[in-house]
Amino acid sequence: MPFLAPESEGRPGTTPGSVDYRFARRRLLHRFRAGELDRGDVCDAQTELLRVGRNCAQRARHDCPVCGEHELRLARFVFGPRMPPGGRVVANRSELRRLGERFAGLRCYTVEVCLACRWNHLLDITPVGAATGGG
Ligand SMILES: [Zn+2]
Repeated sequence: MPFLAPESEGRPGTTPGSVDYRFARRRLLHRFRAGELDRGDVCDAQTELLRVGRNCAQRARHDCPVCGEHELRLARFVFGPRMPPGGRVVANRSELRRLGERFAGLRCYTVEVCLACRWNHLLDITPVGAATGGG
């Protein structure tokens, strides 16, 4: 899946075991705004990701960084033992928490996707137990 492989490596996130891809995201957006990349290079969400974003995702708090529309969604895919090869889609944090209680060793990939222009980027990867803390 293309959203799982940003061209820049992630950095350690705020919670133990998490990986933060916001720097890679900023760099990609910078290259787009500088004219190094076309809109087609960054707005390439696949049909399946758009479907998940439309039906099984939360609204992002901010607008799309590319088109400015308020159509940005946060899609979550859980990978790990006993999960499907393409990841299991979770719609919200409570579902994520229940998964974390039942299965060990899961990691949640959070991807932002714009339904208007198809911009998409991996935001972070978090261990499921830590990702649900405080929620
Ligand atoms: Zn957009």
